[in-house]
Amino acid sequence: MNLEGAHIGKEVVILGSGDIGLIMARRMTLEGAHVAAVAELMPYSSGLKRNIVQCLDDYGIPLLLSHTVVDIKGKEKLEGVYIAKVDEKNQPIPGTEEYYPCDTLLLSCGLIPENELTVGAGVEIDPRTNGAYVNESLETNVEGVFSCGNVLHVHDLVDFVSEESARAGESAAKYILSGADRSGASVDVKAANGVRYTVPSRINLANAAPLNHIRFRVTGVFKNVAIVVKSGETEILRKKLQILVPSEMVDLIIKKDRLEDLTQDIIVSIEKVAQ
Ligand SMILES: Cc1cc2nc3c(=O)[nH]c(=O)nc-3n(C[C@H](O)[C@H](O)[C@H](O)COP(=O)(O)OP(=O)(O)OC[C@H]3O[C@@H](n4cnc5c(N)ncnc54)[C@H](O)[C@@H]3O)c2cc1C
Repeated sequence: MNLEGAHIGKEVVILGSGDIGLIMARRMTLEGAHVAAVAELMPYSSGLKRNIVQCLDDYGIPLLLSHTVVDIKGKEKLEGVYIAKVDEKNQPIPGTEEYYPCDTLLLSCGLIPENELTVGAGVEIDPRTNGAYVNESLETNVEGVFSCGNVLHVHDLVDFVSEESARAGESAAKYILSGADRSGASVDVKAANGVRYTVPSRINLANAAPLNHIRFRVTGVFKNVAIVVKSGETEILRKKLQILVPSEMVDLIIKKDRLEDLTQDIIVSIEKVAQ
């Protein structure tokens, strides 16, 4: 459709409400198709709010949260799909199936980083992000190989990619000019309680920048919480937030002086805030 202007189908159902599923709902509509519904297994969309508004609401496309496709009809060609509600364990609830006649089912059920090059280079992959494990300089376990953007972890906004790429480029330039200094102590950065992963996953304290980014995504929707960054009993950072959603990457900035003299792993977690 993008390259050759081909028409895909006329009556469409989309499974998955991440940004790509949402954008494809609008795109298919603009290409002349009718999008009957976007079904989402989770009780929330994993796409950005503005994409729900601009890609679904503006075109009157229903978003069916806690729903999934349980069966499809058609042999040579798709004729329709059955969509059912799911319970709190994401299991279809018998008797809630509804039939949606359609000629196209678009599956948009998650992105993974483009890791062909990193895997080929022998870089260690984080099973939670499917991207490379990196340190504070965005350097992988293979000396002189740096990672950023969608090779590192799936980004929601390109602005984060631009900033991260500049940092990776700067680190690569420093490496070329003066080599790597790994003599200082390092601590691991670990995700806990509601935090799915962290980038980076290790910080060499001596190599820390004046301002250090720790980026992550959360495992679900959290309201009135605090993000807490600790090393042993030392609280490095605490940030209160009204809402955290899996679709939005969180970017924490930690000053170098907060990292000085740490000896234990840095743990990033979410704590409930008393109302
Ligand atoms: C449908 C869609 C809509 C989006 N909408 C928005 C939006 O509205 N706003 C926003 O901020 N972000 C948006 N994003 C996210 C944003 O596009 C990405 O976060 C960003 O493009 C990632 O940048 P990147 O440079 O890491 O990867 P990419 O932009 O994917 O660039 C990677 C480049 O590397 C090339 N490449 C791959 N393999 C090789 C190889 N072996 N050798 C040489 N080159 C190679 C690819 O061809 C590609 O050109 C959207 C993403 C998608 C998919």
